[in-house]
Amino acid sequence: MTIHETHRLLESKQLSSVELTRAYLERISRVEPAVRAFVTITDELALRQAQKADELIARGDAKPLTGVPVLIKDVICTKGIRTTCSSKILENLVPPYDAAVVEKLNECGAVIIGKSNMDEFAMGSSTENSAFFPTHNPWDLSRVPGGSSGGSAAAVAVGETVYALGSDTGGSIRQPAGFCSIVGLKPTYGRVSRYGLVAFASSLDQIGPLTQDVTDCALVLNVLAGYDRRDSTSVPRPVSDYTQCLTAGLSGLRLGVPKEYFVEGIQAEVATAIKAAIKKLEGLGASVEWEVSLPSTPHALAVYYIIAPSEASANLARYDGVKYGFSYQADSMWESMEKTRQYGFGAEVKRRIMLGTYALSAGYYDAYYLKAQKVRTLIRREFDQAFEQFDALITPTSPTVPFKIGEKVDDPLQMYLSDVCTLPINIAGLPGISIPAGFADGLPIGMQIIGKPFSEETLLKIAYAYEQATDWHKRKPNI
Ligand code: GLN
Repeated sequence: MTIHETHRLLESKQLSSVELTRAYLERISRVEPAVRAFVTITDELALRQAQKADELIARGDAKPLTGVPVLIKDVICTKGIRTTCSSKILENLVPPYDAAVVEKLNECGAVIIGKSNMDEFAMGSSTENSAFFPTHNPWDLSRVPGGSSGGSAAAVAVGETVYALGSDTGGSIRQPAGFCSIVGLKPTYGRVSRYGLVAFASSLDQIGPLTQDVTDCALVLNVLAGYDRRDSTSVPRPVSDYTQCLTAGLSGLRLGVPKEYFVEGIQAEVATAIKAAIKKLEGLGASVEWEVSLPSTPHALAVYYIIAPSEASANLARYDGVKYGFSYQADSMWESMEKTRQYGFGAEVKRRIMLGTYALSAGYYDAYYLKAQKVRTLIRREFDQAFEQFDALITPTSPTVPFKIGEKVDDPLQMYLSDVCTLPINIAGLPGISIPAGFADGLPIGMQIIGKPFSEETLLKIAYAYEQATDWHKRKPNI
């Protein structure tokens, strides 16, 4: 059931939140051995929150998220609940405070059902970089669910939760949403507070919803969006009711198809499905320009893999075994620090720290970091220009369908290529949504809709119109 369906049942008292939560916990215990989407199942907390939600509902205070189970990516701080980032270095960390988004969920009586598995510190595209275990794609258990929010996406797709939160630095909400055939939105940079989100690359990170349909996405964004003085990059801009834009028909909307997103290594079935989806949008009344060019797109991957690791190397310097987290006890302070990081971090995290430290070091800073920042500006400008002509751009979410577990673990560059279509959007700070747009041999294909800053309404409107005209989102994996 979606959030809006669940809400109707709860509000009309056909179902209590406690009953609902029990049913989800039961579902989790049945499918979790095969899927492995959870790092922590918060069953006791969930039942307590469900009881409180039932009291709110009895008083007539039911908001759309009241009493509805949610899963939180384990990179988002939850007071009193272990928050590991799927890393050994934070394996036993229990935060003393809630992230801003968790406060907001709690204020409306949400039921937190657990914390989801992810690539360590959100670095990866398959959830195989989790220090604990990989998550499996419910559409084909031998394949990855995408990443880094793979646990959140798999759990939503297989019905272990009604919806989930993820974080997206280069594609980590949209790519797993595409791989699991659900809806995933990365809001505009600054739309949602990052307070309490464990930092990976601060100029790129953004929290967003993973849901079963577009209406749910709007309902969750209604709660998450808004200014927060504790995040200096959060933007003081009013929040509209995002469900208001969910109307049929797309007449008057101008869509562009950037050709650079359909070249090099794209799987033929993905290109065909997305082109068919765009024709559908045309049929719904949008005007489509098929040959848009964003010439700097091929540089986005290189820019991302300078900027993201640079910021990561600075952000992850705090894990020294002194302040919190895993601490290796040795005779000297330096050895303790070294061994803490040696044993605490996994291979991919170390690779990023080394890349970033190198790119920021004296003598290389101008050649790499500064240059990447300049190309970042070019990429942003090309998008700005495109949005003078178009209301939104349409691309595939990923160049391929979900790949096999183990297929890319030994080839970081191949893994990095999974996000070629999503990274440029973070580089430019834009909003992007992935929605179900077809299948190839039973494996999901996602379509990405990109908009100008703070045009979430436009994205949701297009996504909703497409969803109404198709039934991809109604298909569920058979587990
Ligand atoms: N896959 C990309 C990376 O590894 C993006 C991850 C993310 O968005 N957190 O950095």
